[in-house]
Amino acid sequence: MSIRLRSLRWLVLYLVSSSVLAAAPDGVVAVSHPAAAAAGARTLAQGGNAIDAAAAVQFALNVVEPQSSGIGGGGFMLIHLAKTGETLIVDSREQAPAAATADMFASEGLAMPFPLASTSGLAVGVPGTLRGVDTALRRWGTMKLAATMAPAIELAERGFRVNHFMAEDIAHDGGRTQLQPETAATFRPGGVPLAEGDWLVQRDLAKTLKLIAARGPDAFYRGPIAHAIVKAQQRTRNEIGAAGQGRMTLSDLAHYQVAVRQPLIGHYRGWTLAGMPPPSSGGLTTIQILKLLERFPLGNAAQGYGFGSPKTMHVMIEAMRLAFADRAVWIGDAAAVPVPQTGLLHPGYLASRSALINPDNRMLTPQAGNPLPWDTSLAARPHASRTHRESLHTTHFSIVDRWGNIVSYTSTIENTWGSGITVPGYGFLLNNELTDFNFMPSADAAEGNPGANDVAAAKRPRSSMAPTLLMKNGKPVAAFGSPGGATIINSVLNVILNLIDHGMTPQQAIDAPRLSVTHATGPVSCEGGARFMQPRFSVATQNALRNQGHTGLGEAGTDGCRQTIGSVQAIVMDIATGTHNGAADLRREGAVIRVKPALALPDSRL
Ligand code: GLU
Repeated sequence: MSIRLRSLRWLVLYLVSSSVLAAAPDGVVAVSHPAAAAAGARTLAQGGNAIDAAAAVQFALNVVEPQSSGIGGGGFMLIHLAKTGETLIVDSREQAPAAATADMFASEGLAMPFPLASTSGLAVGVPGTLRGVDTALRRWGTMKLAATMAPAIELAERGFRVNHFMAEDIAHDGGRTQLQPETAATFRPGGVPLAEGDWLVQRDLAKTLKLIAARGPDAFYRGPIAHAIVKAQQRTRNEIGAAGQGRMTLSDLAHYQVAVRQPLIGHYRGWTLAGMPPPSSGGLTTIQILKLLERFPLGNAAQGYGFGSPKTMHVMIEAMRLAFADRAVWIGDAAAVPVPQTGLLHPGYLASRSALINPDNRMLTPQAGNPLPWDTSLAARPHASRTHRESLHTTHFSIVDRWGNIVSYTSTIENTWGSGITVPGYGFLLNNELTDFNFMPSADAAEGNPGANDVAAAKRPRSSMAPTLLMKNGKPVAAFGSPGGATIINSVLNVILNLIDHGMTPQQAIDAPRLSVTHATGPVSCEGGARFMQPRFSVATQNALRNQGHTGLGEAGTDGCRQTIGSVQAIVMDIATGTHNGAADLRREGAVIRVKPALALPDSRL
């Protein structure tokens, strides 16, 4: 397949110079919010590289999409360096405090109710985003932290227009903008929810960003802001009392550690993928699903496959069910528990798992497999998988600069509006990332259950975030990712299959309706709620899947594909023409901005 390019409906031409150097490709940013995209474009236009621009976008997102990500949260930044060809991951995932325990979300033998636990300080992980961005800037950026923060400070101080998506997120907030007075004061001033078109100024947040710009990340991880974070996460819901208070201390904040990791590498039909290693399941589970599917001719309509055919959708569902059963048991923070990565990706193990997929019949509930014989360093037995609810929000953006450096960055505060707790006086929301851990401890030596995702001191909760780099013949061709909790993995998978098996352009691959299952038992979620999601999954196809026993699709004869899943922003490098392009997602206000290279084209400092 060759990735074909076409001009985008949302493409904004950002001409920095009217004279274009023929040899230099454009820088491109693809972001879920136009104002944050503009912050990235401005940084590229000033001569910054992709890492500088990523910092600017992330800080701007904290202002214009505060419900999804920010300095109170964490994330995974994939960086590809043009000069060395190296790809690496800056892991700024939140950590559990030192005082965290495996049973802290359990009360009298039962899991705490999610709505209460997730809006209490107990759910707040030690935030990593600021340290992550700062680490990336220091190592691979060319600009000072303060310079990359300037657009965000302007947006917070001068304000911006609330878009449709933020207004919807306030209107349907599950209470999260109402529970704490500081959050309500910002997003429901005078008790009235902000509406689309309203002007939002965030003075406290501007003050915080200025403090950090002046004094560096230590202004956040030590001193008055750190004190305010520790105090704020002691808030709890009355219904769970002191059990809901956060356990984070000043020492936890001062000792937060960013990890720089190697990506997980997988191969699919001659393409190479670089994805997220643990503590994210993003790379492992995506690669597993692809490998389980590789023996099926997904793109071949003559053999009954092709996009949206019952056969293609059935085998996708089955592969997802198998991989998610493994994920639930085996994947967690590899720094805290042994994760059998080699076994889970071993061709022999994958062949045995793929053999369980019958193209005509639905499996009964698949169990996790046993990758350990394929992974000689570890020893334990498989057992039934446990699952728990995951939320649907976060943000993803991708950037390529004129030199070919790439950043693909997913960051989050977990649920939309995170814990709902705004740090008083400082204007940023705290995450509820620790709810990504198992609520009930699952480790059981007798059963061979490693408790891969049980809570433990300083551990990172398992993530699904999956910034992904797709390469051909060793050269990057596309980078993308998505929000959406566990569905992230399937959004990324759908896009990969659309590009490689179905020969779609990047924009078609993003527009096309998605299919997702995140548990061994189902149910199936599928898209079709918006007109741009083409080609549609037909009712006849849905009926065929229902007849096989797939659940979640509603009544026979009706259109059960009504969901919206994820929000993918991609950048694309056309090897043949040497050009850079982007594609963004209408599921949010995705924007692609191109930045023409300036006249003088200094060498990349990477
Ligand atoms: N907490 C989720 C994860 O790390 C991301 C949240 C979301 O995408 O909604 O996988």
